[in-house]
Amino acid sequence: MQINLSNKTALITGSSKGIGLSIASKMLAANAGVILNSRNDDELSKTANTLRENFPEGTVNTAPFDLSETKDIPNWFAQVSNNYGPIQILVNNAGITHRELAKDITQEDFNRVMRVNLNAVLVICQEFFLQLQNRPGKIINISSLISNLVRETNIAYAASKGALNQLTRSLAIEWATNGINVNAIAPGFIHTDLTESLVNDEKFNHWVKTRVPMSRWGKPNDISSTAVFLASSEADYITGQIIYVDGGTIATI
Ligand code: NDP
Repeated sequence: MQINLSNKTALITGSSKGIGLSIASKMLAANAGVILNSRNDDELSKTANTLRENFPEGTVNTAPFDLSETKDIPNWFAQVSNNYGPIQILVNNAGITHRELAKDITQEDFNRVMRVNLNAVLVICQEFFLQLQNRPGKIINISSLISNLVRETNIAYAASKGALNQLTRSLAIEWATNGINVNAIAPGFIHTDLTESLVNDEKFNHWVKTRVPMSRWGKPNDISSTAVFLASSEADYITGQIIYVDGGTIATI
């Protein structure tokens, strides 16, 4: 099966590095045009230039924006789709965490995580739905193993990703007859900047290697092929699914 996304444009949030960057690379390799997003304009431009070098035939555009500014998302999205669209593939990948015990977390920190990981996703999906005007589209939300299994000091993140799964299913059934597939990928423990401090924590690192059946951290490239598949016509009959890409972690106690 050779996946070809030519004539498709993918907006991938949080794609200056980590899992989002890997998804952008694999989308380009499958001939999609990509629109990159993150808050840091300089870092985003550097990432875009590297991708342009690696994929000289590909189309790479950038749309820097802080997704926590949820009320400004409609304007930003309209500008992005006017400049570089229409967009057929939306990957809601940007995500943040805040590690603190439940008894100590402030409303401000809790809300900050929820805004980026959950509220922003709803608003972007709504704008994407409007822009599609009944043409088909694919939405891929990047959830987490922690949407289902939890560890201490991660209450905001766990709550946001658990809700993201239900948001995914809700959108999937409401938009199923509009030709919009809505699915989520739930990565396990993946070595990126987000988890760098945990990789460097000897105790946690050892725990991951004993807890994960495949006995290793995942790499961003372990996640991105699933996103390309879900974005393709090969996945036209798949919607409302949460696909765990976690080295077997959720399958075992
Ligand atoms: P990284 O921290 O490596 O990358 C996060 C990306 O999101 C960066 O491009 C960052 O750029 C961007 N970003 C963060 N906040 C915002 C914002 N407010 N607006 C726009 N962009 C933003 O994270 P990962 O690649 O590890 O994670 C990607 C997704 O995968 C997240 O949703 C995460 O929850 C999920 N995930 C990760 C796992 C892991 O083990 N790494 C496991 C399970 C799920 P900048 O900071 O410049 O804005």
